Amino acid sequence: MTAKEELTAQRDRARQDYDELVARGLKLDLTRGKPSPDQLDLALGLLELKGEPKAADGTDLRNYGGLNGLPELRAIFSEALQVPVDQLLAAGNSSLELMHDAIVFALLSKVPGAERRWVEEPEIAFLCPVPGYDRHYGICERYGIKMIPVPMTADGPDMDVVERLVAEDPAVKGIWCVPKYSNPDGVVYSDETVRRLAAMETAAPDFRIFWDNAYAVHHLSGEPAEIADVLALATEAGHPDRVFVFGSSSKITFAGAGVAFFGSSPANLKWWQSHTVKRSIGPDKINQLRHVQFLRDADGLREHMAQHAAVIRPKFDIVDKVLTAELGDSGLASWTSPAGGYFITLTVPEGCAGEVVAKAKAAGIALTPAGATHPYGDEPEDRTIRIAPTYPDPAELEVAISGLATCIRLVATDKLLNG
Ligand code: PLP
Repeated sequence: MTAKEELTAQRDRARQDYDELVARGLKLDLTRGKPSPDQLDLALGLLELKGEPKAADGTDLRNYGGLNGLPELRAIFSEALQVPVDQLLAAGNSSLELMHDAIVFALLSKVPGAERRWVEEPEIAFLCPVPGYDRHYGICERYGIKMIPVPMTADGPDMDVVERLVAEDPAVKGIWCVPKYSNPDGVVYSDETVRRLAAMETAAPDFRIFWDNAYAVHHLSGEPAEIADVLALATEAGHPDRVFVFGSSSKITFAGAGVAFFGSSPANLKWWQSHTVKRSIGPDKINQLRHVQFLRDADGLREHMAQHAAVIRPKFDIVDKVLTAELGDSGLASWTSPAGGYFITLTVPEGCAGEVVAKAKAAGIALTPAGATHPYGDEPEDRTIRIAPTYPDPAELEVAISGLATCIRLVATDKLLNG
């Protein structure tokens, strides 16, 4: 058989498999990185409040006040988020909300070091390491912030590109970073990347790193990744106000009923609080107390996350096993094997991702739209697909990934044959 005949036979087999897949009438969802019911059950103890609703210092938590959040809870997360307790605030139920507010506050009032409010600048831009998190891009798009893609490497964003862009253009006011087990490719920033981000010279005096450490404790392997302390390094490098740290317990306790964290320099915190004091009389401290009682301390948090890993690691293994079995030597796809976080990035031949996602949808397998991992939903190479394996049960996940592999075989062989 010639190579072309071989490829045609492969394509025809894939078409037959695909027709059978469609005929099964599946209804499977791999779109968003949500904890599964089994994971949420791990935190059921959170629903119970033991003893009196009082803080360690005797404050009655049923009442107004306490804008900074419960010190006991900030102490539990301080180590994981690498922010000293007195520089870490415990807020509401969503870190995305805090990132959104940080942008809006910066647009409407001068951040420390700024010459003017961002809304008064002729143009502002954020660097967006790609692939990245679509909801970061959504905030920028909503407020007219130009997004400049920067390629990711195995060590984090390509720092040669980042350093050049921030040095030459004062319109570049920020960068989105998910430094540990990044969404979606699971990259852990190297110490050198963190050091360069903290120390680089920026044309904008009010440049900010949006350090979204959403997966700080979400290890899949027995060897937790460590990252360098960006807040300390920026301070050492003479840029104490450069970093906004965000954290979240959404994927630790309950997504939607957890606690979000904001950490930064004293000057930034003062600026932040000058807004939040007008916005709210304080966070839900009863929920924060329940988190303290449930998690206990940093070791309790680690133990709880080990239980999460025991539930979701097998799902990541299923994705790897099925893709290896069905596409392993095909040369039609490659995928990440992250050591933590919530996602697997699947890379297909150029020009195929959109078509693969559409074919999967037609077969009842919902995936995150192709392009969502890039600013404006536009990936020019059209080759990245984000897989979120945590929510489905293992049997469903196996069927969904096998179906996805079929779609890839069909679309990629067709593309090779017909261009
Ligand atoms: N940041 C990243 C990188 C995420 O992947 C997610 C959720 O998927 C969030 C933030 C959302 O966090 P929260 O639920 O605290 O708003």
